[in-house]
Amino acid sequence: MKTVLEIQKLDRQIKALEREVEKCPASIDFRNYKKILQEGKSRFEQLEAQANEIIKNYEIANSKFSRIKGDSEILKKQNTDGINLENVSTLIADANVMVGELSEENRRMEDLVRKAEEIVRKSADLSNKLTEAKKRSAVFKARIEQKRQEVAPKIAEIEKKIKELEPKADKEKYAKYTQMKENGIFPVYVNLEDVFCGGCKVELSLNFIEKLKNVKMLPCEHCNRIIMLDK
Ligand SMILES: [Zn+2]
Repeated sequence: MKTVLEIQKLDRQIKALEREVEKCPASIDFRNYKKILQEGKSRFEQLEAQANEIIKNYEIANSKFSRIKGDSEILKKQNTDGINLENVSTLIADANVMVGELSEENRRMEDLVRKAEEIVRKSADLSNKLTEAKKRSAVFKARIEQKRQEVAPKIAEIEKKIKELEPKADKEKYAKYTQMKENGIFPVYVNLEDVFCGGCKVELSLNFIEKLKNVKMLPCEHCNRIIMLDK
């Protein structure tokens, strides 16, 4: 058991070194910039969808505009053929409606063009920001890599020590250790701290503690780590 605990201690050192890399300022900055890049990307997609909507509406407005213009040509032709007092007022009223419709469509189209221009401006802004963020995140990435290179030999040294200890470790207990460690549970072997699990710090039942006193080693009722009685 002593050897397994020694290995666990060494693994703890490796994890501390890995955490050093994870928690270094560049890593935190890198994660922040990654978030900015992701948000930027989805904003771009939104703008693209808006732009597509505008193009669609513009095409609708444009075809309506053409139709009204076509109608007014017909009206003009009618106008030249035998004008009489009866149809003059109808023709004027029809023409007025068309002028109204035309200017309304025109306004709508101008409005759409304005919106499209705004989207182009926003997209350009966003694109600049994203380029900047990409540049920065590349710098942070390089710094993280540097930090990783820094701790790599230390980790390799500890791993070598572990390899040397492995043959001396209790097979069954070490197998259990490796399996749980691979499942993301660490540390695997913990002490009983008063009436609490040394791993998850949850209070254990009296029943459990009594049983532990007899068998000296038991998986925690809550986190499944192996609780050992202090020697
Ligand atoms: Zn526990």
